[in-house]
Amino acid sequence: MQDKNNVVEYSKALPISIRGLTKRYGSLYALNSIDLDVSSGEFLTLLGPSGSGKTTLLMAIAGFNRPDSGSIRFGDSEMILAPPHKREVGMVFQNYALFPHMTVAENIGFPLKLRKIGSKECQQRVDEALSTVQLLNLGDRRIDQLSGGQKQRVALARAFVFSPRILLMDEPLSALDKKLREQMQIELKQLHRKLGVTTVYVTHDQREALTMSDRIAVINEGKFEQIDSPEFIYNKPANSFVADFIGESTMLPVKKKTSGDLFFQDILISSGYSNSSQEEWLLVIRPERLFLVEKNNLDSDQNIIFEGVIKEFVYQGETAFALIALSDQHSLSIRFSTDSSGSRDNMRPGESLKIGLKRSEVIIIPENSN
Ligand code: ADP
Ligand code: MG
Repeated sequence: MQDKNNVVEYSKALPISIRGLTKRYGSLYALNSIDLDVSSGEFLTLLGPSGSGKTTLLMAIAGFNRPDSGSIRFGDSEMILAPPHKREVGMVFQNYALFPHMTVAENIGFPLKLRKIGSKECQQRVDEALSTVQLLNLGDRRIDQLSGGQKQRVALARAFVFSPRILLMDEPLSALDKKLREQMQIELKQLHRKLGVTTVYVTHDQREALTMSDRIAVINEGKFEQIDSPEFIYNKPANSFVADFIGESTMLPVKKKTSGDLFFQDILISSGYSNSSQEEWLLVIRPERLFLVEKNNLDSDQNIIFEGVIKEFVYQGETAFALIALSDQHSLSIRFSTDSSGSRDNMRPGESLKIGLKRSEVIIIPENSN
């Protein structure tokens, strides 16, 4: 793409600032007094289970629903009462919401027509948008002649063709099969980098969120559980909801008194909990951080060692997965890459084994932190 000729120009990308936003349906708080800041040009993902309030929040930002209270600012302007067309927001819906009786080019040009942009400029912008989403020769196609991935690209082009200041996407890839979805995730990320538009993206798929986002806002029952970078969300989950929802994890209860060794104190300090009087904690253990202990000379100052019996062993191609029953009735999941494991042959249910975890990789959260 020749950037010089690209009429899509996003110097206008705007930050979003949300304060105390509440939306009720009867007695249900779909959004419960939430605060959120999205910086100019950022890619922020709303991640949460079905029914957690993601669509409600996106619709509130777009102006398609009316919150009960709170503030939504785009830059310096209060938007809470502004109708959707005054907000200049591009939107991609889960079901594409394309106009079936129009061609691809007519669909993409629709927002320009609404804005009374002349036909010559309209044509030029549509061509550029078609090229950006790699549909250059399909402008005259009817919508029902497109594949799912192509429809999604049309919906995307229609959302950004008019240079919106903010782009909102509600589970845009959920109708696509896994391979295409993963390909489109990368394409969307590249498109975002090129356009630089402030983007709020909705998904319930944690891997998709980790792949695409500058920051992830984990939402549950109309409230944010944590807003952080993907690395932070994964490595420093704020509570058991986040630890459970993102990635695989085993959580083991530990008490401060019985684990009152120096290392436990170190872990509390390095996790930012040095002043907590909390007695009960959860160790969050990511299966891929565990390793098999093959010799007996592992330094227990540096490592925690678990002993257990294999309950289940599952070969899954590039990785294998084992469920280990510990002596104290808890169990642990361990995942390891298959090529590095010469010990696969003795990984049979019933075998005893030792598993190590570097103390520096321990994640700890307060119990009942929700
Ligand atoms: P998500 O997009 O995260 O799946 P939604 O924002 O669609 O969740 O919904 C949040 C909650 O609000 C859910 O409990 C849902 O049932 C409820 N809800 C959403 N829209 C309406 C509506 N129009 N009327 C009543 N309840 C609604
Ligand atoms: Mg939804």
